[in-house]
Amino acid sequence: MITSLLTICYLIGSITFILGLKMLGHPDTAKKGNLIAAGGMAIAIFGTIFLYRENGSSLHNYGWIFSALIVGSIVGTLAAKKVQMTAMPEMVSLFNGMGGACAMLISVLEWSHLHETAIVTEAIGDLPKLYIQSEQINHLQILIIVLAMVIGAVSFSGSMIAWGKLAGRVKDFTFKGQQYVNLLLLIVLVAYIAYFSYVTPSSVSDIPLNSVAVDETLINAVFTNFHSYLFYGIIALALVYGVMFVFPIGGADMPVVISLLNSFTGVAAACGGFLYDNPVMLTGGILVGAAGTLLTILMCKAMNRSLINVLLGAFGGSASASATAQTGGAYKEITLTDSAVLMTYAKKVMIVPGYGLAVAQAQHVCHEIEELLQEKGVEVKYAIHPVAGRMPGHMNVLLAEADVSYDKLLEMEQANEEFRTTDVVLILGANDVVNPAAKTDPASPIYGMPILEVELAKHVIVNKRSMKPGYAGIENGLFFEPKTSMLFGDAKGVLQKLVSEIKEL
Ligand code: NDP
Repeated sequence: MITSLLTICYLIGSITFILGLKMLGHPDTAKKGNLIAAGGMAIAIFGTIFLYRENGSSLHNYGWIFSALIVGSIVGTLAAKKVQMTAMPEMVSLFNGMGGACAMLISVLEWSHLHETAIVTEAIGDLPKLYIQSEQINHLQILIIVLAMVIGAVSFSGSMIAWGKLAGRVKDFTFKGQQYVNLLLLIVLVAYIAYFSYVTPSSVSDIPLNSVAVDETLINAVFTNFHSYLFYGIIALALVYGVMFVFPIGGADMPVVISLLNSFTGVAAACGGFLYDNPVMLTGGILVGAAGTLLTILMCKAMNRSLINVLLGAFGGSASASATAQTGGAYKEITLTDSAVLMTYAKKVMIVPGYGLAVAQAQHVCHEIEELLQEKGVEVKYAIHPVAGRMPGHMNVLLAEADVSYDKLLEMEQANEEFRTTDVVLILGANDVVNPAAKTDPASPIYGMPILEVELAKHVIVNKRSMKPGYAGIENGLFFEPKTSMLFGDAKGVLQKLVSEIKEL
């Protein structure tokens, strides 16, 4: 009866997770989807705490379990409430790292557990003798334990470095031949995993098993291989690999890494689900792993990077963070009144939101301008670059917050087709995602990244506070083009003044 109840809890957890993930795919349903998935997870967690039985007995240590749950919930709630939208990627990295650390610790515990249950003592006469139970040890089980541990450790240390970099606390770090060092580390890790999962159990099964008492020294000799320092050596190596893997990556390529690390954590959690025969952990892990992998592939496509480059930690790098193209030259400014006139008498206006719009929290007043222009008969749409802002989907979330209708948002390909028929492009705090160097300058660190081709429109108005570069640290030739006009100022202040100007026309 109790086991069936627990199975029902797990079923609810799995179904709500799938449903929640599906609902997260659309801004209208995302909030509800998140709550449904969280509710399902709570049922699965409390089901495990109260209904799980091992050899007929329930879990103990309730004091520890609930203390950890309470502390974790308080920290998580406060952090989520306090975090600025623009700092969300940092938080995602941090939470993702915690997930990786959990998967790593589960493996460490399972390893000791396996070691303990693999040896049984039995008193024969006066002498205690040791036996190895072979059914406790198999290749697959060990492979899963070591994989979860390695992937979790890489995800943990990699996410911590990603967090540090996004928060500006860790600088990019590269040295000559780093790709080869990373590749070597990866090969050693794979070799270690193979050794543990294949060689070790075979050597154990060479020993007479189950019925025959074996010599303690023989068992100890086998478990010296099997155990301790080599196992913990892999953890150390995996942690180092995670650091080395993320260290050189910077500039425009960070989103790919965050999404990849997220998929790593999903895979590590799925391994945990397999180990514990826990369907919710397995389903959740597989879905997170698959979603993260798909997102990584889409981001790679959007940024024109190959996955192999990502895996070797070979792309972007400090060059992108420090490079400053020598574009220079003269730029022209436009007044608020002229901007208002240009947009009010246009047929079609395309708004390009970027990181600066999020910093200024100007999404609501941006929506107000959109409605005002529409009332005056102007067609208004938004051009969304897949890596605009600081996290995947950042602009979609930001605009949804201000109730901008989803069908007004054009994806990059669609927007690029429509720029030719656009009269005015209004760029709000975007920079890298409209930098033509990505198409024209092979020496540029963002060369190859598809961009929004705003220069195809008749007029381009760029709102930002200064001529400073964006995230990739490079100057933008678009600002010096004859059809571009700069409208300096904080996005919110500028848009508020534009609203008054448009109202007067
Ligand atoms: P950028 O970071 O390239 O540029 C943002 C611009 O906004 C800056 O040039 C800044 O100029 C301006 N700005 C800042 N604050 C304000 C403000 N209050 N009002 C008006 N303007 C402001 O942004 P993009 O969105 O174009 O590109 C995103 C970049 O971030 C890409 O390089 C992407 O690869 C990277 N990235 C993306 C992630 C993602 O998942 N989306 C994650 C991590 C990185 P000024 O200081 O002069 O005002």
